[in-house]
Amino acid sequence: MRVTEIFHSIQGESSYAGQPCVFVRLTGCPLRCTWCDSAYTFSGGADLTIDEVLDKVRAYGCPLVEVTGGEPLHQPETFALVARLCDAGYEVLVETSGAIDTAPLDRRAHVILDVKCPGSGMAERMHWENLDRLTRQDEAKFVIRDRADVWA
Ligand code: SF4
Repeated sequence: MRVTEIFHSIQGESSYAGQPCVFVRLTGCPLRCTWCDSAYTFSGGADLTIDEVLDKVRAYGCPLVEVTGGEPLHQPETFALVARLCDAGYEVLVETSGAIDTAPLDRRAHVILDVKCPGSGMAERMHWENLDRLTRQDEAKFVIRDRADVWA
């Protein structure tokens, strides 16, 4: 799979904010949000096997892992990676744009669903059925660009 970076930091979003976390940032995204702050993930990166990703995650000795991007579910191997991380006992967060069906995701993982408001320019790309799949362990994120997004 194509990986932009794997690093250890402090989680800055969601109800896990403030906790140490390993971030697995995968390469590529089919969307182009107007306010995207991660365009550097659209290309480049390095090819790693799932075992190599697990080795790098393990080296940090941190129980919380976020799989993000880009759009992590854009790569089909991501579903297997998430299952392997769960099997290894990690608490796994998957931050996804909402544009790709989350149904195949291992339900032990927590979905952080980025609901695209109109100001993103990508609202029509939402896979709205993903909202129906959210459970109490998941979270939704709304990036608000302007007042029009609030009243949409
Ligand atoms: S989904 Fe995320 S990575 Fe992709 S364009 Fe939007 S903000 Fe950027």
